[in-house]
Amino acid sequence: MKHYDVLIVGGGAAGFFSAINTAQRNSDLKIAILERGNTVLSKVKISGGGRCNVTHAEFEPKPLSLHYPRGQKELLGPFHTFMTGDTMEWFEKRGVDFIKIMTKLDLVIPAFILLFLSTWVTNSLNLFSAALAFATIKTKWSYKRLTLYTSVLGVFIALLGITEHFFVFLNALGVLIPSVSSIYIAHFVWIKKQVYQIGDVQDWSFSALISWSVASVISFCTYMELFHLTQAYFVDSFLIGGILYFVLNIKRFSKYKDEKNN
Ligand SMILES: Cc1cc2nc3c(=O)[nH]c(=O)nc-3n(C[C@H](O)[C@H](O)[C@H](O)COP(=O)(O)OP(=O)(O)OC[C@H]3O[C@@H](n4cnc5c(N)ncnc54)[C@H](O)[C@@H]3O)c2cc1C
Repeated sequence: MKHYDVLIVGGGAAGFFSAINTAQRNSDLKIAILERGNTVLSKVKISGGGRCNVTHAEFEPKPLSLHYPRGQKELLGPFHTFMTGDTMEWFEKRGVDFIKIMTKLDLVIPAFILLFLSTWVTNSLNLFSAALAFATIKTKWSYKRLTLYTSVLGVFIALLGITEHFFVFLNALGVLIPSVSSIYIAHFVWIKKQVYQIGDVQDWSFSALISWSVASVISFCTYMELFHLTQAYFVDSFLIGGILYFVLNIKRFSKYKDEKNN
């Protein structure tokens, strides 16, 4: 009798997509797709009358969801996780060159527009969020300067081949970033009394640095499964960072409570 680690029920597009992604994330797993029919991917073969419309030239989740009147609400969440650009990238990484296919189909101008829009939208959105994040650190820098430096840093990191290690990068973010948000939340709610002036942000804070470092080290240990806390390393990072920051600043918090009571 054969043994499998993962069984996927249904040999349709969803089943194959899940199987491929699971196998690529963990090549040690033995995966089987169970199909009740005689053939697999039968719907994919008839999709679009044999010329399946694989994705859509719409790169924003909300407008894309409007094209699916029966699934508009339900699809909005998944579209924030996996969008048109991700679909194209997924196929392209597996050797499907959309632009070449469109060129062969005499769709040179739409291919150019698609390439231009996808590159532009993806890069500008990423650059915008990265520059916004840096704006909280370097508050005195102009937005132009921040955007320029962020784009140079982005190109440099891309040249180092970060996309080859995308999942490792996401896991590293899961270890390093959640504690930053919980420290900010604790600071905003208990210390700044929910009144935040961007100009008042300190360049650095010792207690925040300690909280972030401890949270990152512990959540790295839980990520490596050396021990477990909540079973989700990013939740560990979030909780430890916020709680430790709160404990280290308990005096400032008590002062706030006293001021409030008076
Ligand atoms: C005519 C037509 C044209 C289309 N054109 C397009 C297009 O141009 N672009 C586009 O994006 N989409 C198109 N679609 C939609 C697209 O084909 C489907 O959304 C997609 O194939 C659904 O994939 P799925 O894996 O979710 O489901 P399915 O393809 O339905 O796969 C489910 C599989 O599970 C199997 N199964 C079910 N129950 C069991 C069980 N108990 N045990 C074992 N196996 C089981 C079924 O036999 C089936 O093979 C089209 C669909 C049709 C019908």
